[in-house]
Amino acid sequence: MDKNVDTDIRQKLLRRIPKTDVLLDRQEIRCLSEEFGYEYVRGIVREELAALRSEIGNGQDIYMEEIQCASLAERIRQAVLLYRENSLRPVINATGVILHTNLGRAPLGKQIAEKLQEAAAGYSNLEYDLASGERGERYAHFEELICRVTGAEAALAVNNNAAAVLLMLNTLAKDGEVIVSRGELVEIGGKFRIPDVMERSGAVLREVGTTNRTGRSDYEDALNGQTKAILKVHTSNYRIVGFTESVGEKELAELAGERGVLLLEDLGSGVFIDLAAYGLLAEPTVQSALKNGADVVCFSGDKLMGGPQAGILAGRKQYIDLMKKNPLVRALRIDKFTAAALELTLREYLAPSQAVKRIPVLSMLTAPAEEIRRRAEKTVSELQAKIPGEIAGFETVLTRAKAGGGAMPQAEIPSFAVAVEASHITADALAKKLRSCAVPIIGRIERDRILLDLRTVSEEETAVLILELLALFNGEADG
Ligand SMILES: *Cc1c(COP(=O)(O)O)cnc(C)c1O
Repeated sequence: MDKNVDTDIRQKLLRRIPKTDVLLDRQEIRCLSEEFGYEYVRGIVREELAALRSEIGNGQDIYMEEIQCASLAERIRQAVLLYRENSLRPVINATGVILHTNLGRAPLGKQIAEKLQEAAAGYSNLEYDLASGERGERYAHFEELICRVTGAEAALAVNNNAAAVLLMLNTLAKDGEVIVSRGELVEIGGKFRIPDVMERSGAVLREVGTTNRTGRSDYEDALNGQTKAILKVHTSNYRIVGFTESVGEKELAELAGERGVLLLEDLGSGVFIDLAAYGLLAEPTVQSALKNGADVVCFSGDKLMGGPQAGILAGRKQYIDLMKKNPLVRALRIDKFTAAALELTLREYLAPSQAVKRIPVLSMLTAPAEEIRRRAEKTVSELQAKIPGEIAGFETVLTRAKAGGGAMPQAEIPSFAVAVEASHITADALAKKLRSCAVPIIGRIERDRILLDLRTVSEEETAVLILELLALFNGEADG
Protein backbone atom coordinates (compact mmCIF):
# COMPACT_ATOMS: atom_id res chain seq x y z
CA MET A 1 0.00 0.00 0.00
CA ASP A 2 1.22 3.51 -0.84
CA LYS A 3 2.20 6.00 1.79
CA ASN A 4 0.40 9.31 1.88
CA VAL A 5 3.22 11.09 0.09
CA ASP A 6 1.08 13.89 -1.25
CA THR A 7 -1.96 15.95 -0.45
CA ASP A 8 -4.22 14.01 -2.81
CA ILE A 9 -3.62 10.81 -1.01
CA ARG A 10 -4.09 12.50 2.36
CA GLN A 11 -7.41 13.95 1.23
CA LYS A 12 -8.45 10.54 0.06
CA LEU A 13 -7.50 8.96 3.36
CA LEU A 14 -9.43 11.60 5.29
CA ARG A 15 -12.54 11.02 3.19
CA ARG A 16 -12.39 7.29 3.77
CA ILE A 17 -12.33 7.48 7.56
CA PRO A 18 -15.51 5.79 8.76
CA LYS A 19 -18.15 7.82 10.56
CA THR A 20 -18.49 7.58 14.35
CA ASP A 21 -21.91 5.97 14.07
CA VAL A 22 -20.68 3.33 11.67
CA LEU A 23 -17.99 2.34 14.13
CA LEU A 24 -20.33 2.42 17.09
CA ASP A 25 -22.59 0.06 15.23
CA ARG A 26 -19.94 -2.58 14.67
CA GLN A 27 -20.25 -5.74 16.69
CA GLU A 28 -16.85 -5.38 18.49
CA ILE A 29 -17.59 -1.82 19.53
CA ARG A 30 -21.12 -2.68 20.62
CA CYS A 31 -19.61 -5.29 22.93
CA LEU A 32 -17.30 -2.65 24.40
CA SER A 33 -20.24 -0.28 24.92
CA GLU A 34 -22.12 -2.97 26.76
CA GLU A 35 -19.22 -3.65 29.04
CA PHE A 36 -17.90 -0.14 29.67
CA GLY A 37 -20.88 2.11 28.91
CA TYR A 38 -22.05 3.69 25.65
CA GLU A 39 -21.20 7.32 26.50
CA TYR A 40 -17.67 6.45 27.51
CA VAL A 41 -16.98 4.34 24.43
CA ARG A 42 -18.51 6.96 22.08
CA GLY A 43 -16.15 9.53 23.61
CA ILE A 44 -13.16 7.31 22.94
CA VAL A 45 -14.30 6.64 19.34
CA ARG A 46 -14.49 10.38 18.69
CA GLU A 47 -11.12 11.00 20.28
CA GLU A 48 -9.42 8.27 18.28
CA LEU A 49 -10.95 9.46 15.00
CA ALA A 50 -9.84 13.02 15.75
CA ALA A 51 -6.35 11.74 16.57
CA LEU A 52 -6.27 9.81 13.29
CA ARG A 53 -7.31 12.89 11.31
CA SER A 54 -4.56 14.97 12.83
CA GLU A 55 -2.01 12.20 12.25
CA ILE A 56 -2.95 12.27 8.57
CA GLY A 57 -2.99 16.07 8.54
CA ASN A 58 0.48 16.19 10.11
CA GLY A 59 1.81 14.06 7.31
CA GLN A 60 2.49 10.99 9.41
CA ASP A 61 2.77 7.72 7.51
CA ILE A 62 -0.69 6.25 7.63
CA TYR A 63 -1.56 3.22 5.56
CA MET A 64 -4.93 2.56 3.99
CA GLU A 65 -5.38 -0.52 6.21
CA GLU A 66 -5.16 1.61 9.31
CA ILE A 67 -8.33 3.51 8.48
CA GLN A 68 -10.38 0.43 7.79
CA CYS A 69 -13.12 -0.44 10.23
CA ALA A 70 -11.48 -3.60 11.56
CA SER A 71 -8.17 -1.91 12.42
CA LEU A 72 -9.93 1.12 13.83
CA ALA A 73 -12.09 -1.09 16.01
CA GLU A 74 -8.93 -2.68 17.39
CA ARG A 75 -7.32 0.74 17.96
CA ILE A 76 -10.44 1.83 19.84
CA ARG A 77 -10.48 -1.35 21.91
CA GLN A 78 -6.86 -0.73 22.97
CA ALA A 79 -7.68 2.85 23.91
CA VAL A 80 -10.73 1.82 25.90
CA LEU A 81 -8.67 -0.69 27.85
CA LEU A 82 -5.77 1.72 28.35
CA TYR A 83 -7.99 4.38 29.89
CA ARG A 84 -9.39 1.77 32.25
CA GLU A 85 -5.95 1.15 33.71
CA ASN A 86 -5.15 2.90 36.94
CA SER A 87 -2.70 5.73 36.71
CA LEU A 88 -1.50 5.29 40.29
CA ARG A 89 -0.21 1.75 40.63
CA PRO A 90 2.41 -0.38 42.34
CA VAL A 91 6.02 -0.12 41.18
CA ILE A 92 9.15 -1.93 42.25
CA ASN A 93 11.53 0.51 43.93
CA ALA A 94 14.97 -0.82 43.03
CA THR A 95 16.68 2.54 43.58
CA GLY A 96 18.07 1.63 46.99
CA VAL A 97 16.49 4.80 48.42
CA ILE A 98 14.28 3.54 51.22
CA LEU A 99 12.14 6.66 51.74
CA HIS A 100 11.69 7.74 48.12
CA THR A 101 9.24 10.64 48.18
CA ASN A 102 8.40 10.26 44.49
CA LEU A 103 7.64 6.58 45.01
CA GLY A 104 5.30 7.13 47.95
CA ARG A 105 7.80 7.16 50.85
CA ALA A 106 7.08 4.48 53.44
CA PRO A 107 5.40 1.28 52.23
CA LEU A 108 3.10 -0.07 54.92
CA GLY A 109 3.57 -3.73 54.13
CA LYS A 110 1.08 -6.51 53.44
CA GLN A 111 -0.07 -7.13 57.01
CA ILE A 112 -1.10 -3.56 57.67
CA ALA A 113 -2.53 -3.08 54.18
CA GLU A 114 -4.79 -6.09 54.64
CA LYS A 115 -6.16 -4.74 57.90
CA LEU A 116 -6.65 -1.33 56.30
CA GLN A 117 -9.04 -2.84 53.80
CA GLU A 118 -11.54 -3.30 56.60
CA ALA A 119 -11.45 0.38 57.49
CA ALA A 120 -11.83 1.27 53.82
CA ALA A 121 -14.66 -1.07 52.92
CA GLY A 122 -17.27 -0.28 55.54
CA TYR A 123 -18.27 1.98 58.40
CA SER A 124 -16.04 2.34 61.44
CA ASN A 125 -16.08 3.97 64.87
CA LEU A 126 -13.79 6.73 63.57
CA GLU A 127 -15.40 9.45 65.71
CA TYR A 128 -17.73 7.37 67.79
CA ASP A 129 -17.19 6.20 71.33
CA LEU A 130 -18.53 2.67 71.47
CA ALA A 131 -18.62 2.61 75.28
CA SER A 132 -20.84 5.66 75.70
CA GLY A 133 -22.54 5.67 72.31
CA GLU A 134 -21.54 9.30 71.93
CA ARG A 135 -19.33 11.30 69.63
CA GLY A 136 -15.64 10.42 69.99
CA GLU A 137 -12.33 11.78 68.76
CA ARG A 138 -10.52 10.45 65.69
CA TYR A 139 -7.25 10.82 67.59
CA ALA A 140 -8.46 8.49 70.32
CA HIS A 141 -7.49 5.44 68.26
CA PHE A 142 -3.80 6.22 68.43
CA GLU A 143 -3.19 9.01 70.95
CA GLU A 144 -2.60 6.65 73.83
CA LEU A 145 -0.27 4.55 71.69
CA ILE A 146 1.85 7.60 70.84
CA CYS A 147 1.98 8.52 74.52
CA ARG A 148 2.93 5.01 75.52
CA VAL A 149 5.70 4.75 72.93
CA THR A 150 7.14 8.27 73.31
CA GLY A 151 6.38 9.20 76.91
CA ALA A 152 4.35 12.26 75.83
CA GLU A 153 1.36 13.44 77.89
CA ALA A 154 -0.84 13.93 74.83
CA ALA A 155 -0.71 13.74 71.04
CA LEU A 156 -2.56 14.38 67.81
CA ALA A 157 -1.96 13.93 64.12
CA VAL A 158 -2.59 16.10 61.06
CA ASN A 159 -2.13 15.69 57.32
CA ASN A 160 1.68 15.84 57.24
CA ASN A 161 4.60 17.29 59.16
CA ALA A 162 4.47 20.56 57.23
CA ALA A 163 0.90 20.96 58.52
CA ALA A 164 2.05 19.99 62.01
CA VAL A 165 4.67 22.77 62.06
CA LEU A 166 2.08 25.25 60.81
CA LEU A 167 -0.48 24.22 63.43
CA MET A 168 2.08 24.23 66.23
CA LEU A 169 3.38 27.72 65.45
CA ASN A 170 -0.06 29.15 64.69
CA THR A 171 -1.50 27.85 67.95
CA LEU A 172 1.40 28.56 70.27
CA ALA A 173 3.29 31.51 68.78
CA LYS A 174 0.93 33.58 66.60
CA ASP A 175 1.67 37.31 66.84
CA GLY A 176 4.79 36.60 68.84
CA GLU A 177 8.43 35.91 68.05
CA VAL A 178 9.99 32.51 67.57
CA ILE A 179 13.74 32.13 67.83
CA VAL A 180 15.48 29.81 65.37
CA SER A 181 19.18 29.23 64.79
CA ARG A 182 20.43 30.28 61.34
CA GLY A 183 21.96 26.83 61.08
CA GLU A 184 18.47 25.31 61.18
CA LEU A 185 16.52 27.36 58.62
CA VAL A 186 15.87 24.28 56.57
CA GLU A 187 14.32 23.84 53.17
CA ILE A 188 12.92 20.35 52.74
CA GLY A 189 12.04 19.41 49.16
CA GLY A 190 8.63 20.35 47.82
CA LYS A 191 8.65 24.04 48.81
CA PHE A 192 8.70 23.50 52.56
CA ARG A 193 10.88 26.24 54.03
CA ILE A 194 10.85 27.00 57.73
CA PRO A 195 10.81 30.81 57.24
CA ASP A 196 7.84 30.60 54.83
CA VAL A 197 5.80 28.31 57.06
CA MET A 198 6.59 30.56 60.00
CA GLU A 199 5.25 33.56 58.10
CA ARG A 200 2.01 31.77 57.22
CA SER A 201 1.56 30.75 60.84
CA GLY A 202 1.47 34.39 61.92
CA ALA A 203 4.59 34.04 64.07
CA VAL A 204 7.60 36.28 63.54
CA LEU A 205 10.89 34.56 62.84
CA ARG A 206 13.81 35.76 64.90
CA GLU A 207 17.01 34.33 63.42
CA VAL A 208 20.01 33.96 65.69
CA GLY A 209 23.63 32.88 65.37
CA THR A 210 25.36 32.07 62.10
CA THR A 211 25.09 29.23 59.63
CA ASN A 212 27.72 27.13 61.38
CA ARG A 213 27.65 28.40 64.94
CA THR A 214 24.89 29.33 67.35
CA GLY A 215 25.59 29.49 71.07
CA ARG A 216 23.50 29.85 74.20
CA SER A 217 24.21 33.57 74.42
CA ASP A 218 22.72 34.08 70.93
CA TYR A 219 19.42 32.73 72.19
CA GLU A 220 19.70 34.68 75.45
CA ASP A 221 20.29 37.97 73.65
CA ALA A 222 17.31 37.44 71.36
CA LEU A 223 14.80 36.60 74.09
CA ASN A 224 12.49 39.53 74.74
CA GLY A 225 8.93 40.36 75.79
CA GLN A 226 7.57 39.31 72.40
CA THR A 227 9.22 35.88 72.42
CA LYS A 228 6.77 33.01 72.55
CA ALA A 229 9.03 30.09 71.77
CA ILE A 230 12.38 28.73 70.79
CA LEU A 231 12.11 26.40 67.82
CA LYS A 232 14.66 23.71 67.18
CA VAL A 233 14.61 22.19 63.69
CA HIS A 234 16.25 18.94 62.71
CA THR A 235 18.58 19.66 59.78
CA SER A 236 17.14 16.66 58.00
CA ASN A 237 18.72 16.69 54.59
CA TYR A 238 22.06 18.39 55.28
CA ARG A 239 24.80 18.49 57.86
CA ILE A 240 27.03 21.33 58.88
CA VAL A 241 30.46 19.93 59.62
CA GLY A 242 33.76 21.48 60.68
CA PHE A 243 33.83 24.54 62.94
CA THR A 244 30.36 24.26 64.39
CA GLU A 245 28.42 24.93 67.54
CA SER A 246 24.80 24.38 68.47
CA VAL A 247 22.86 24.26 71.69
CA GLY A 248 21.38 20.97 72.86
CA GLU A 249 17.77 20.42 73.86
CA LYS A 250 18.48 20.19 77.56
CA GLU A 251 20.17 23.56 77.68
CA LEU A 252 17.52 25.15 75.46
CA ALA A 253 14.75 23.67 77.59
CA GLU A 254 16.39 25.09 80.70
CA LEU A 255 16.71 28.52 79.12
CA ALA A 256 13.14 28.46 77.78
CA GLY A 257 11.89 27.41 81.22
CA GLU A 258 13.78 30.21 82.98
CA ARG A 259 12.42 32.84 80.61
CA GLY A 260 8.88 31.51 80.46
CA VAL A 261 8.80 30.61 76.75
CA LEU A 262 8.17 27.27 75.05
CA LEU A 263 10.68 24.92 73.50
CA LEU A 264 9.21 23.49 70.29
CA GLU A 265 10.96 21.01 68.07
CA ASP A 266 10.50 19.94 64.47
CA LEU A 267 12.17 16.54 64.48
CA GLY A 268 11.56 15.93 60.77
CA SER A 269 11.75 12.18 60.68
CA GLY A 270 10.31 10.70 63.85
CA VAL A 271 12.37 7.81 65.13
CA PHE A 272 11.32 5.72 68.11
CA ILE A 273 14.14 3.21 67.97
CA ASP A 274 17.82 3.73 68.68
CA LEU A 275 19.18 2.98 65.23
CA ALA A 276 22.79 3.11 66.40
CA ALA A 277 22.16 -0.32 67.92
CA TYR A 278 21.81 -1.57 64.32
CA GLY A 279 25.06 -0.05 63.12
CA LEU A 280 23.33 3.00 61.63
CA LEU A 281 24.04 6.66 62.38
CA ALA A 282 22.40 7.70 65.62
CA GLU A 283 19.28 9.80 65.08
CA PRO A 284 17.72 11.57 68.06
CA THR A 285 14.58 9.72 69.10
CA VAL A 286 11.23 11.32 69.85
CA GLN A 287 11.49 9.94 73.38
CA SER A 288 14.82 11.67 74.03
CA ALA A 289 13.60 15.03 72.68
CA LEU A 290 10.63 14.93 75.05
CA LYS A 291 12.73 13.70 77.96
CA ASN A 292 15.22 16.51 77.37
CA GLY A 293 12.41 18.98 77.92
CA ALA A 294 10.81 19.93 74.59
CA ASP A 295 7.24 21.11 75.29
CA VAL A 296 5.91 19.96 71.91
CA VAL A 297 7.62 18.02 69.14
CA CYS A 298 6.38 17.23 65.65
CA PHE A 299 7.50 14.70 63.06
CA SER A 300 6.41 12.87 59.90
CA GLY A 301 4.45 9.64 60.00
CA ASP A 302 5.92 8.35 56.75
CA LYS A 303 9.62 8.88 57.22
CA LEU A 304 11.62 6.69 59.59
CA MET A 305 8.51 5.88 61.63
CA GLY A 306 7.42 3.87 58.60
CA GLY A 307 3.71 4.65 58.71
CA PRO A 308 1.21 6.62 56.60
CA GLN A 309 1.62 10.24 55.54
CA ALA A 310 0.88 12.28 58.65
CA GLY A 311 2.30 14.93 60.92
CA ILE A 312 2.37 13.86 64.53
CA LEU A 313 2.40 16.33 67.39
CA ALA A 314 3.30 15.09 70.85
CA GLY A 315 4.08 16.76 74.15
CA ARG A 316 2.44 18.53 77.06
CA LYS A 317 -1.31 18.09 77.31
CA GLN A 318 -2.19 21.75 77.78
CA TYR A 319 -0.55 22.66 74.45
CA ILE A 320 -1.87 19.66 72.54
CA ASP A 321 -5.37 20.56 73.80
CA LEU A 322 -4.97 24.11 72.48
CA MET A 323 -4.00 22.72 69.08
CA LYS A 324 -7.01 20.40 69.02
CA LYS A 325 -9.21 23.48 69.50
CA ASN A 326 -7.56 25.56 66.76
CA PRO A 327 -9.98 25.88 63.78
CA LEU A 328 -7.03 25.14 61.47
CA VAL A 329 -6.97 21.57 62.72
CA ARG A 330 -10.21 20.89 60.85
CA ALA A 331 -8.60 21.90 57.58
CA LEU A 332 -5.51 19.83 58.27
CA ARG A 333 -7.16 16.75 59.67
CA ILE A 334 -6.30 13.20 58.76
CA ASP A 335 -8.76 10.86 57.09
CA LYS A 336 -9.94 7.47 58.28
CA PHE A 337 -7.36 5.49 56.32
CA THR A 338 -4.58 7.45 57.92
CA ALA A 339 -6.09 7.06 61.38
CA ALA A 340 -6.33 3.32 60.84
CA ALA A 341 -2.81 3.02 59.41
CA LEU A 342 -1.35 5.11 62.24
CA GLU A 343 -2.94 2.93 64.86
CA LEU A 344 -1.73 -0.25 63.16
CA THR A 345 1.81 1.05 62.70
CA LEU A 346 2.10 2.44 66.21
CA ARG A 347 0.82 -0.79 67.73
CA GLU A 348 3.87 -2.55 66.28
CA TYR A 349 6.11 -0.28 68.35
CA LEU A 350 4.77 -1.71 71.60
CA ALA A 351 7.26 -4.50 70.89
CA PRO A 352 10.26 -2.63 69.43
CA SER A 353 12.26 -5.73 68.50
CA GLN A 354 9.25 -6.96 66.50
CA ALA A 355 8.70 -3.52 64.96
CA VAL A 356 12.16 -3.63 63.43
CA LYS A 357 11.19 -6.80 61.59
CA ARG A 358 7.57 -6.00 60.79
CA ILE A 359 7.66 -2.36 59.70
CA PRO A 360 9.04 -2.41 56.14
CA VAL A 361 11.08 0.82 56.43
CA LEU A 362 12.86 -0.50 59.51
CA SER A 363 13.38 -3.99 58.18
CA MET A 364 14.86 -2.61 54.94
CA LEU A 365 17.07 -0.25 56.93
CA THR A 366 18.39 -2.94 59.26
CA ALA A 367 18.53 -6.03 57.03
CA PRO A 368 22.05 -7.51 57.09
CA ALA A 369 23.92 -6.84 53.83
CA GLU A 370 24.78 -10.55 53.68
CA GLU A 371 21.10 -11.41 53.37
CA ILE A 372 20.70 -9.01 50.45
CA ARG A 373 23.83 -10.39 48.81
CA ARG A 374 22.41 -13.93 48.91
CA ARG A 375 19.16 -12.78 47.30
CA ALA A 376 21.05 -10.80 44.62
CA GLU A 377 23.26 -13.79 43.78
CA LYS A 378 20.29 -16.12 43.57
CA THR A 379 18.50 -13.66 41.30
CA VAL A 380 21.54 -13.29 39.08
CA SER A 381 22.00 -17.04 38.62
CA GLU A 382 18.34 -17.52 37.83
CA LEU A 383 18.42 -14.77 35.22
CA GLN A 384 21.70 -16.01 33.72
CA ALA A 385 20.25 -19.50 33.43
CA LYS A 386 17.14 -18.32 31.60
CA ILE A 387 18.30 -15.41 29.50
CA PRO A 388 20.99 -16.00 26.87
CA GLY A 389 24.24 -14.13 27.48
CA GLU A 390 24.08 -12.61 23.96
CA ILE A 391 20.94 -10.78 24.96
CA ALA A 392 21.77 -9.49 28.43
CA GLY A 393 24.36 -9.84 31.16
CA PHE A 394 23.70 -9.93 34.91
CA GLU A 395 26.07 -9.49 37.82
CA THR A 396 25.90 -9.00 41.58
CA VAL A 397 27.53 -5.75 42.65
CA LEU A 398 28.20 -4.05 45.98
CA THR A 399 26.33 -0.73 46.29
CA ARG A 400 25.27 1.85 48.85
CA ALA A 401 21.63 2.26 49.74
CA LYS A 402 20.24 5.40 51.38
CA ALA A 403 17.57 6.22 53.93
CA GLY A 404 16.21 9.10 51.78
CA GLY A 405 13.25 11.30 52.69
CA GLY A 406 15.57 13.80 54.31
CA ALA A 407 16.72 11.31 56.92
CA MET A 408 20.32 10.49 57.71
CA PRO A 409 21.78 12.20 54.61
CA GLN A 410 25.26 10.92 55.37
CA ALA A 411 24.34 7.34 56.02
CA GLU A 412 25.33 4.97 53.26
CA ILE A 413 24.02 1.52 53.94
CA PRO A 414 25.98 -1.34 52.38
CA SER A 415 23.78 -3.16 49.91
CA PHE A 416 23.83 -5.37 46.84
CA ALA A 417 22.32 -4.83 43.42
CA VAL A 418 21.68 -6.86 40.32
CA ALA A 419 23.53 -5.05 37.53
CA VAL A 420 21.81 -5.45 34.16
CA GLU A 421 23.40 -4.76 30.82
CA ALA A 422 21.52 -5.34 27.58
CA SER A 423 23.54 -6.13 24.46
CA HIS A 424 21.63 -4.16 21.88
CA ILE A 425 20.26 -1.18 23.74
CA THR A 426 21.66 1.63 25.86
CA ALA A 427 21.17 1.84 29.60
CA ASP A 428 18.73 4.74 29.09
CA ALA A 429 16.61 2.71 26.68
CA LEU A 430 16.68 -0.27 29.04
CA ALA A 431 15.64 1.94 31.97
CA LYS A 432 12.68 3.07 29.88
CA LYS A 433 11.70 -0.51 29.06
CA LEU A 434 11.88 -1.41 32.74
CA ARG A 435 9.59 1.48 33.56
CA SER A 436 7.04 0.22 31.06
CA CYS A 437 6.82 -3.29 32.53
CA ALA A 438 3.41 -4.45 33.79
CA VAL A 439 4.82 -3.77 37.26
CA PRO A 440 7.20 -0.91 36.47
CA ILE A 441 10.74 -1.35 37.79
CA ILE A 442 12.65 1.78 38.81
CA GLY A 443 16.41 1.32 39.08
CA ARG A 444 19.36 3.63 38.70
CA ILE A 445 21.98 4.00 35.98
CA GLU A 446 25.63 3.69 36.86
CA ARG A 447 28.40 3.38 34.27
CA ASP A 448 26.08 2.41 31.43
CA ARG A 449 24.39 -0.33 33.39
CA ILE A 450 21.14 -0.51 35.31
CA LEU A 451 21.57 -1.28 38.99
CA LEU A 452 18.62 -2.89 40.72
CA ASP A 453 19.34 -2.46 44.42
CA LEU A 454 17.62 -5.24 46.31
CA ARG A 455 17.63 -3.54 49.72
CA THR A 456 14.40 -1.80 48.74
CA VAL A 457 12.90 -4.84 46.99
CA SER A 458 11.07 -7.38 49.13
CA GLU A 459 11.41 -11.12 48.67
CA GLU A 460 7.98 -11.22 47.05
CA GLU A 461 8.81 -8.33 44.73
CA THR A 462 12.07 -10.02 43.74
CA ALA A 463 10.03 -12.88 42.27
CA VAL A 464 7.96 -10.38 40.28
CA LEU A 465 11.12 -8.57 39.17
CA ILE A 466 12.55 -11.83 37.81
CA LEU A 467 9.34 -12.57 35.88
CA GLU A 468 9.30 -9.08 34.40
CA LEU A 469 12.93 -9.36 33.28
CA LEU A 470 12.28 -12.77 31.71
CA ALA A 471 9.27 -11.40 29.83
CA LEU A 472 11.22 -8.37 28.71
CA PHE A 473 14.33 -10.14 27.46
CA ASN A 474 12.85 -13.38 26.23
CA GLY A 475 10.11 -11.47 24.47
CA GLU A 476 12.88 -9.68 22.63
CA ALA A 477 14.65 -12.93 21.88
CA ASP A 478 11.54 -14.27 20.13
CA GLY A 479 10.85 -11.13 18.17
C1 LIG B 1 10.41 16.15 56.10
C2 LIG B 1 10.39 17.32 56.99
C3 LIG B 1 9.27 18.15 57.05
C4 LIG B 1 8.08 17.93 56.18
O1 LIG B 1 7.43 16.75 56.53
P1 LIG B 1 6.23 16.19 55.60
O2 LIG B 1 5.68 15.07 56.40
O3 LIG B 1 6.86 15.78 54.33
O4 LIG B 1 5.27 17.31 55.43
C5 LIG B 1 9.31 19.21 57.91
N1 LIG B 1 10.39 19.46 58.68
C6 LIG B 1 11.48 18.67 58.66
C7 LIG B 1 12.64 19.03 59.52
C8 LIG B 1 11.52 17.57 57.81
O5 LIG B 1 12.59 16.78 57.77
